[in-house]
Amino acid sequence: MARAKARAVRRTSRRAPRYIYAFGAGRKDGRADMKALLGGKGANLAEMARLGLPVPPGFTISTEVCTHYYAHRRSYPPALRAQVKAALRWLEKAIGRRFGDTTDPLLVSVRSGARASMPGMMDTILNLGLNDQTVAGLIRQSGNARFAYDSYRRFVSMYGDVVLGLKPETRDEEDPFEVALQEKKRQRGVTLDTELDADALGELVDEFKALIKMRKGVDFPEDPEEQLWGAVGAVFGSWMNPRAITYRKLNRIPDGWGTAVNVQSMVFGNMGTDSGTGVAFTRDPATGANVFYGEFLMNAQGEDVVAGIRTPLPIADLERENPKAFAELCKVRRILERHYREVMDIEFTIQERTLYMLQCRVGKRTAFAAIKVAVDMVKERLISTDEALRRIEPEQLSQLLRPVFNTAEKERAVKERRLLARGLNAGPGAATGRIVFNAEDAVDWATRGEPVVLVRIETSPEDIGGMHAAEGILTARGGMTSHAALVARQMGKVCVAGCEPLQIDYRAREMRVAGRSEVLREGDWLSLDGSSGEIFLGEIHTTPSEVVRVLVDESLAPKQAPIYQLYAQLMQWADKRRRLRVRANADQPDQCTNALAFGAEGVGLCRTEHMFFGEGKIEPMREVILAETTEERRAALAKLLPLQRADFEGIFRVMGGRPVTIRTLDPPLHEFLPHDEAGQREIAQSLGISPERVRARVGALHELNPMLGFRGCRLGIIHPEITEMQVRAIFEAAAAVRKDGIAVEPEIMIPLVGHVKELTLQAEVVRRVAAAVMQERGVRFRYLIGTMIEIPRGALTADEIASVAEFFSFGTNDLTQTTLGVSRDDAGRFLVPYVTDFEIYPRDPFESIDRAGVGQLMRIACERGRKTNPKVKLGICGEHGGDPASVGFCHELGLDYVSCSPFRVPIARLAAARAALGA
Ligand code: PEP
Ligand code: MG
Repeated sequence: MARAKARAVRRTSRRAPRYIYAFGAGRKDGRADMKALLGGKGANLAEMARLGLPVPPGFTISTEVCTHYYAHRRSYPPALRAQVKAALRWLEKAIGRRFGDTTDPLLVSVRSGARASMPGMMDTILNLGLNDQTVAGLIRQSGNARFAYDSYRRFVSMYGDVVLGLKPETRDEEDPFEVALQEKKRQRGVTLDTELDADALGELVDEFKALIKMRKGVDFPEDPEEQLWGAVGAVFGSWMNPRAITYRKLNRIPDGWGTAVNVQSMVFGNMGTDSGTGVAFTRDPATGANVFYGEFLMNAQGEDVVAGIRTPLPIADLERENPKAFAELCKVRRILERHYREVMDIEFTIQERTLYMLQCRVGKRTAFAAIKVAVDMVKERLISTDEALRRIEPEQLSQLLRPVFNTAEKERAVKERRLLARGLNAGPGAATGRIVFNAEDAVDWATRGEPVVLVRIETSPEDIGGMHAAEGILTARGGMTSHAALVARQMGKVCVAGCEPLQIDYRAREMRVAGRSEVLREGDWLSLDGSSGEIFLGEIHTTPSEVVRVLVDESLAPKQAPIYQLYAQLMQWADKRRRLRVRANADQPDQCTNALAFGAEGVGLCRTEHMFFGEGKIEPMREVILAETTEERRAALAKLLPLQRADFEGIFRVMGGRPVTIRTLDPPLHEFLPHDEAGQREIAQSLGISPERVRARVGALHELNPMLGFRGCRLGIIHPEITEMQVRAIFEAAAAVRKDGIAVEPEIMIPLVGHVKELTLQAEVVRRVAAAVMQERGVRFRYLIGTMIEIPRGALTADEIASVAEFFSFGTNDLTQTTLGVSRDDAGRFLVPYVTDFEIYPRDPFESIDRAGVGQLMRIACERGRKTNPKVKLGICGEHGGDPASVGFCHELGLDYVSCSPFRVPIARLAAARAALGA
């Protein structure tokens, strides 16, 4: 019995793991939720097969093979060959054609497909299986020699490029296969690829092969199995090509995921005028409108549409071209939307009037579209409000808040005939910048701080780094679903695509616009309206978005603002869901007004030192600093008191009873003093003291390491009169506002506390002044005393500190600086490579909380603080308070609120709701 069991175990453990999953022709081994194993493309092909949609049969080689490939010096698991062979035999049977058959050959496509979609970043090969013998079979099978040679020349060039590496060698060089194709058209006196006859295409096949032999020193492989393995290797290899690596870095896709490879029987869109190919979205990916949206080309193969080589026709025209296929496609659209409850991005081919589905995936969309679709789908009862919240990445909201062109300037530009041309409105928003003609230059210029517009004939996925660096992207060719458009939308970049009148000369680094005389050169200013597709000569300033105009400027009525209405709906759902409160960091009444407009529920940090830079305040502040005796200091502080009081009054009035956390003076004093001679002379004169005295005092205040020097609560402990003045100003303002019947909730925050005694000393001052002011003014008001937790000792001794503090606010800027021992001001030089090249931190720790280090201290502080003071209020006011991932962490810690800059408040609100939903 035991032996039988052991045998069974041995048998199962010997059985090779499964690497292949088939789909179509009755097989549906995979499912949509198997993306980790099958990649998005493979999983969705299987799902479409399950839905009974017309999917040409094929099989997926799983991502585990990719992982193995990279873990074992680019080799395959031993069992793979036999499994691929078996799958091919099955496919041959399913199709009724044999691989390499000279009379009726099976042809396949070999395509990549990772877990997360990486549009165009990896490689694809179509028409695999063709050689000088099988092409004859394809002619026989199709009765169409032109089609057969067209397929063959496409295959040879794709294979030459992807597998054999025949690509342009310099940035100015054109694709060598494309050059040969153009030359052939010139020789034959034709302009379109489709006008080349079978003979010409056959010649091209030979010329392409000769080109490969000459440039790469290898023969084009004629054996279909060898072709297949070459293609499979190239697709796995393309996971590590530079553009895929860049894309993954930008989109935070782990290298370890790997890609799957899909081998699928070919259907042909280039079989004649009743064949075609296209891509579509079930709704408009730019606006989110519920209209079928896409493009197609008749007598073409898939890559022609996405590569932007020929400009395709809108999908609505398919009804005229091929009503049967169009009706079927509309049905597929409905089925997919109902099944996935999502906007789907589909790829299809029509072969002699029959529709085939080649791909479907959740469609990438602009932030506008994402929000519109989510809100609409709730109304259509396709999804719940929670699902709508899960679908919107908080960062997408920042696109809604993005500026648009100043209308008057744009109108002027039109009048001045600076509207150069119109292209497709591929990525909304307004961008203005200086022209560059290649991705590398875009990066170089942007690094120098120049805003750039990247202008390309068509963008290839290699341009991704440049697209990222550019303010806007402009292409002469390609449609809405070209790579340029897809990637730009996903990045949230302004993009105008397919602007046909452009004549671009890469070598001369200049462009002309058909019908106009100007020559635009590198460095010239250009403005793009990605919402209308217009391009303008020169610079056009931008104005705030619709949401900002409704909420902040109040220059637009909500009724006239459809985008605002969607935003408001989404925010309402978010507010219902979130547990975290959201406050803003604001130092002035007008900032508080903005913060409220964006939904802030209080002020989480008012940095009082920022007020001293206001008019008329810097001089008395300098007097305070230059004072040599306490009396002198008190006299100068007395001048500051009414000025500060007025600021606080303004803030309390705007915030009307909402909590306002005001921090006592924090930065090193010498920051307020001029360090140059002229400035020092000026101060000396205005204060009536000698320049030497000013110089001496500036010298005396000099610190080698001011961030760790005389700053924070140390200032108020050594000079309690500073804290006295500040809290008097706060409480007098509170009393005045209170007397007017407006509620006030001041929270006095002591910065940089590391020892409970520091807080005790400052709290005494605060309490004494509060009691005095209440007595003098005859009003009572509530207030809290708390501290920032921003140095490790403060976090570690939080139990002691919480015995005095009524609230903690994590100052994660300083806490990151002090925990990591990395200066906030000097980190730029090494933190970028730390994150991007060495992956020491997954993200910049000053942008997103370093959970393992800083986060651990926060957790300790929360636990210990609550132990001695279960009611201690907990918040965060470092920059991380507006970072969605950090907001999620704050939710996890059970903080009461996050506080961030006013424009990030909506982002934090949504992030807090998603955290509550576990999204
Ligand atoms: C912090 O340190 O996180 C903080 C909010 O204070 P500041 O940035 O003013 O030092
Ligand atoms: Mg700080």
